[in-house]
Amino acid sequence: MLWSGWGDPAKARELPEAVRTLLRDLLGVRAPAEPAATLSSVRLAPSRLPAAALDALTEVTGAAHVRTDHEARVRHARGKSTPDLLRMRAGDGAHAPDAVVAPATHDEVAAVLRVCAEARIAVVPFGGGTSVVGGLTPTGDGFAAVVALDLGRMNRLVAVDAESMTATFEPGVRAPEAERLLAAHGLTLGHFPQSFEYATLGGFAAARSSGQASAGYGRFDDMVAGLTLASPAGTLELGRAPKSAAGPDLRQLVLGSEGAFGVITSLRLRVRKAPAERAYEGWRFASFAEGSAALRALAQEGPLPTVLRLSDETETMIGLAKPDAIGGGDSGCLVIAGYEGADVAARARAAGEVLSGRGGVPLGPEPGRAWEHGRFSAPYLRDSLLAEGATVETLETAGFWANLPRLYDAVRLSLLGSLGSPLVMCHISHVYETGASLYFTVVTAQHGDPVEQWERAKEAVSAAIVEAGGTISHHHGVGRDHRDAYAREIGPLGVEILRAVKLRLDPAGIMNPGALVS
Ligand SMILES: Cc1cc2nc3c(=O)[nH]c(=O)nc-3n(C[C@H](O)[C@H](O)[C@H](O)COP(=O)(O)OP(=O)(O)OC[C@H]3O[C@@H](n4cnc5c(N)ncnc54)[C@H](O)[C@@H]3O)c2cc1C
Repeated sequence: MLWSGWGDPAKARELPEAVRTLLRDLLGVRAPAEPAATLSSVRLAPSRLPAAALDALTEVTGAAHVRTDHEARVRHARGKSTPDLLRMRAGDGAHAPDAVVAPATHDEVAAVLRVCAEARIAVVPFGGGTSVVGGLTPTGDGFAAVVALDLGRMNRLVAVDAESMTATFEPGVRAPEAERLLAAHGLTLGHFPQSFEYATLGGFAAARSSGQASAGYGRFDDMVAGLTLASPAGTLELGRAPKSAAGPDLRQLVLGSEGAFGVITSLRLRVRKAPAERAYEGWRFASFAEGSAALRALAQEGPLPTVLRLSDETETMIGLAKPDAIGGGDSGCLVIAGYEGADVAARARAAGEVLSGRGGVPLGPEPGRAWEHGRFSAPYLRDSLLAEGATVETLETAGFWANLPRLYDAVRLSLLGSLGSPLVMCHISHVYETGASLYFTVVTAQHGDPVEQWERAKEAVSAAIVEAGGTISHHHGVGRDHRDAYAREIGPLGVEILRAVKLRLDPAGIMNPGALVS
């Protein structure tokens, strides 16, 4: 993973000339004044890890798995939001941990937590490091040191229960590896977020992730049948039956807890048969409103495709749903509908009747193929745009169908109001019977300090989302960036409940301090 950007450097994307022209002429983007930092030039404070803690941690994991070197600290300094990348490109290593510790088992995790609680060292669980909400950036104030707990060595498929259709994994398994391991059993998870190449199963659970095929396979939290949490106060084993009426479901307290209560060390996940067939196709609608109505009909009356995505007029024009053809988009609003599993042709025909009945025009398989080919490549495009001097960032929310147009307008107006004349694009890619998510991509010229510029806009848009009745996050999570807006969403009593849970599970407050709840 590129330390200051996304993914495999070999897959870096050149910007088409049409996009360069658009950035320059339409948005006024100018090349950055300073070249991007190199890894060795990133500024770090000396490691504060006390010698006694270093010895104790070394005893738990072995010396090779407690690192305090420059590279390890830089690589665990932040997640992958645009402000994270802008700071890394500027050589700012302010949030780097003092050490990176990599346990290999649940017992080692528990032992690391004991050492850190005693020495008052903050612990930040680190999965794939793809958080886009400041989930990995504690200040470290009030602590002797900060340790990034890298879960990469906990990367095993522990068991497959083909009868119950579940698979038990360690938390540090990356999504492609999980799919590879399951494929050997003819199974799939069906969880394909855009961060698929690098994110881990533990991170998906900790941040309540949702993938591109959520219409067919569900959100990640729907897949979690059971889990184990190692907290400073002890171990929780949750989920002993598919459903239970035995009180509130404590799994739900761990899902989305973003390392603030403890470390997820094991996950029993619902799996499906690997699809025999896959087919993706495109449809065009005259407007976002018409397209939304068609998606709502599919979500409420069926048949629901496995992948269902509607781009608004701007996103369709720019061609963002087909990143390989960026800059060469079409008019109207593009829908991508995908079908995986059995009876693909019959399901496509039945869903097609609903789409055409609502004004959709079939575009055939080509847009579907283009989307499938480019489905994980947009993050590489972000690096090219940042190098060009543009700020590009994404944000997301969700609401009930009846409120979706108001939410859409509120976010757009807020972004336009705070950033001057940015390009604002949106799509719906997660639908439910009662509502849907809205996912926005913003591109703007940089004025002054780009991090401050974005943070001002983000504050305004978060307030607008809460005001317009949306949730502050449909799938990115809370981290530190959304904490205040989340507090407004759940109210003071909700915040007190989270604090009480944290105090019980993490009395010394060492777990990812500042994430989720202050
Ligand atoms: C380019 C890009 C595209 C993205 N696309 C999507 C998308 O399509 N859908 C989506 O849902 N998200 C998306 N994300 C967000 C991100 O990938 C998800 O939030 C993902 O769930 C994070 O997984 P991770 O393994 O990288 O976790 P990390 O970033 O390492 O951690 C995320 C949070 O969870 C905590 N954590 C991690 N592992 C554990 C554990 N085992 N126990 C307890 N706490 C833990 C961390 O401390 C942190 O607070 C995207 C991010 C990027 C950069």
